[in-house]
Amino acid sequence: MTRARVLLLTAALGPLDYRVPRESEAPLGSVVVAPLGPRRMGGVVWEDASFGAPEAVGDNRLRNLYEVVPVPPVPAPLRRLVEWTSDYYLAPPGAVLRMVLPGAAFADARRPIVEYRATGERPARMTPQRTVALEKIGGRQGMVRELAALAEVSDAVIRGLVQAGALEAVSVSADAPYTEPDPAFAPPDLSDEQAAAASELRGAVAAARFETLLLDGVTGSGKTEVYMEAIAAAIEAGQQALVLLPEIALTEPMLTRFAARFGCEPVAWHSGLRSTERRRAWHAIASGDAKIVVGARSALFLPYGNLGVIVVDEAHETSFKQEDGVHYHARDVAVMRGHFEGLPVILASATPALESLAMVEAGRYRHIILPARYGGATLPDLAAIDMRQDPPDRGHWLAPPLVDALADRLGKGEQSLLFLNRRGFAPLTLCRTCGHRIQCPNCTAWMVEHRLVHRLACHHCGHVMPPPRLCPECEDEDSLVACGPGVERVADEVSSRFPEARTAIVTSDTLWSPAKAAEFVDNVEGGLVDIIIGTQLVTKGYHFPNLTLVGVVDADLGLDGGDLRASERTFQQIAQVAGRAGRGVKPGEVLIQTRVPDAPVMAALVANDREGFYAAEAAARRQAGAPPYGRFAALVISSEDIEVARGVAQRLGQKAPVADGLAIYGPAPAPLAMLRGRHRFRLLLHAPRSFDLQGAIRDWIGRIDWPAKARLAIDVDPYSFV
Ligand code: ADP
Ligand code: ZN
Repeated sequence: MTRARVLLLTAALGPLDYRVPRESEAPLGSVVVAPLGPRRMGGVVWEDASFGAPEAVGDNRLRNLYEVVPVPPVPAPLRRLVEWTSDYYLAPPGAVLRMVLPGAAFADARRPIVEYRATGERPARMTPQRTVALEKIGGRQGMVRELAALAEVSDAVIRGLVQAGALEAVSVSADAPYTEPDPAFAPPDLSDEQAAAASELRGAVAAARFETLLLDGVTGSGKTEVYMEAIAAAIEAGQQALVLLPEIALTEPMLTRFAARFGCEPVAWHSGLRSTERRRAWHAIASGDAKIVVGARSALFLPYGNLGVIVVDEAHETSFKQEDGVHYHARDVAVMRGHFEGLPVILASATPALESLAMVEAGRYRHIILPARYGGATLPDLAAIDMRQDPPDRGHWLAPPLVDALADRLGKGEQSLLFLNRRGFAPLTLCRTCGHRIQCPNCTAWMVEHRLVHRLACHHCGHVMPPPRLCPECEDEDSLVACGPGVERVADEVSSRFPEARTAIVTSDTLWSPAKAAEFVDNVEGGLVDIIIGTQLVTKGYHFPNLTLVGVVDADLGLDGGDLRASERTFQQIAQVAGRAGRGVKPGEVLIQTRVPDAPVMAALVANDREGFYAAEAAARRQAGAPPYGRFAALVISSEDIEVARGVAQRLGQKAPVADGLAIYGPAPAPLAMLRGRHRFRLLLHAPRSFDLQGAIRDWIGRIDWPAKARLAIDVDPYSFV
């Protein structure tokens, strides 16, 4: 009889033993479906030695596996990566494995799927709801559930439209092959510096062993063109390439760019895919047929059949850190994947993370530098506007020098970008009479006014409500006022100052789909936009040659809150957004509105002194024992019942480990004391780099009884301290 140890796709259990039915074979790595109680659950056949021994189960009590799924087995290096991730981030291995095997892995790729699309016929009975639904669906197609979500109606409405003939069924094959990218389709004519960098990257791919390369070049230096050469080398060798991007919104322009270089679009992987696309992509990735995959961080764990190189673009971005479920950092795990699979990992950035530069300094990463912008374009001039000396008019947000600069560009027919990292109209609504602030009922957060859609919204839990007419506290009429600006409010100011200017607001609210992002790019490139007002969504990736002015509306915004990376993040964000200016032949200008022009980060930006800034920042971190010279981990205990959460936190506090060099802060209410209706308490651990934090935590939480109503989130190397 053959036994198999199976790691199931559940966070709740470790590996379990099963019997392999006589007619099947299930070598290590096989993807299987197993019985678990009354349920069927996917899993992978795993080494006996991993995760310690499960409870011995007699042969006679073993249950049969239901099925060995006909997909390639999960290779050993990827199994090691799952174990490493689980160990390092203290996450259940089954939860990590779910990122390798999403639902698409178990769907039969050969079975066609029925999707629906508009026929253009008007149903005989047209309701306002149907009209809106058809409008929202437009030219897109998808399964009933997906169209319902897209149109924000029930499944029944979609089915009704099918019956009425307004939507028709199309059969979609999920195993249709993708077009093969052609590395020789349109190679660029590289500058000498670019060619030197590209040849180093190509060499690393050819060597086919683990190495991390930091591709460090100013904005517009051609990093993308250069790393595409590494990708070309992988394809020439018959291998696959993975490009990780920090944001879904960046995928669309990147797909177009890859199509121009390789003759066809790469395979996209992100949460916005339809389930047919997801199924098709997963199977092509596992078979090795998907040659170039461009995706969000979730693409990192997929079981590539024949991976040759990983590129992490904008590698300094903190959005690579996942903040729920498995709290992993995709940049760091990408490097580990390269280590286990023996392949090069390229981290591309104009403003590398201090962590990455420290690795260069330690001799662990190869540093490849592109010092200048491509094609003779110069870097923009940066200047600070001291908001204490040059304040905006009352009730306005743009200081006179910035207003003048905007007027100047409008006059010359050039484009401008105003950056403010705040969605909506105003971050706070306040009662003038009693001082009441409108708060989210579920979170320790203010409700943000979104005037375009007439809503107050919580950016933490998504709670929305109509703006009240009366103060909810004192019931005074017309006493509520909006405090502070969001992008919508800045756009209002622009429109009132320059009624002729054509504006575009760019946030995740307005660019919520790839189609919207593409439309925005077309409009800007086509000269239909004079002034862009946007959040961090517009700070990277875009290349608009006629954009010559960038205004940073509130450069101090990110400095509040005392986050250890606040200065670094501010530097990166402003340097990135500044990098949008003057990318064509006309030089760029960047105006930074700040109340602290003397702060080291502002001074360094204006003086274009990156090295000086990083050196000072590194020295301060070293002094404080902060990352990358020391380590943090956070434990957040949460419960709907505040006493339960407090009780667990206190018991943890009482049993806290004591060790040389280890400091534990708390338990204390987390800065975000309530989130989604759960009360949160936090313990923060701080230790030297060499300290085994994970071991200490594992040991510690093992000594506590957990009430069912309390939940623990562990964040190793946290980036968010709320
Ligand atoms: P980065 O990623 O460093 O910001 P990009 O790769 O986006 O830089 O390059 C900036 C712009 O210059 C892009 O429009 C790109 O197509 C163009 N470019 C860079 N290098 C070349 C080259 N060798 N030949 C043609 N165009 C180039
Ligand atoms: Zn909320």
